[in-house]
Amino acid sequence: MKKTLETKPQLIQISAAWNSREGAPLGRNQYVELEIKKPKANGASTKLSANQKPCEKMAEAILMDGGKRGQVVKVCADPACRIHHPNTPSPQQVERERAEERKLVQRIRELLVAPYPIERAWNYGIPNERFTCWTILEHHPSNTGIAFCSQGFGPSNPWGLVFLAGQHMGIGMDSAWFASLEDAMRESAAWDGPKPDVLEAR
Ligand SMILES: [Zn+2]
Repeated sequence: MKKTLETKPQLIQISAAWNSREGAPLGRNQYVELEIKKPKANGASTKLSANQKPCEKMAEAILMDGGKRGQVVKVCADPACRIHHPNTPSPQQVERERAEERKLVQRIRELLVAPYPIERAWNYGIPNERFTCWTILEHHPSNTGIAFCSQGFGPSNPWGLVFLAGQHMGIGMDSAWFASLEDAMRESAAWDGPKPDVLEAR
């Protein structure tokens, strides 16, 4: 292996482990091993998976550990490569998401109220069970708000979308309760920015 490295000092040193200490050799979370397929002689196009396609950043690497120690393989270790690292957000995407985050926090601040308790019906326990939910945010145009309740769907999902007035003043269903205030706000009628599923799709 030492000899290989002496003759080819440009080889990227990689590890078979997912996450390597101190970033060297590169862990598997930082590179994609490529198995480039030659085009078929008859020109038939076969559906290639990403790691069978070459790219501009393709480079040779040597495995420093594991069962294939010493083997030289082709890898792509460029996080900006759209073929092999499609889930790495671009700087523009990161900036856009940060801007959305700031907007979300700003919107929460606008709608915050001094917390006040409301006893809300809990339909999953003993008959007529009620839990104290602290309303912390109000959005009157939609008659909805966000409440905090350490019982009910808490403590794992203590932030819920609730009605401020009217017939449906209960705790409701688990789909309206979230782990964080930000998550609840994203699903709220008071938020006109992108919903979580939109963010996920990138
Ligand atoms: Zn690539």
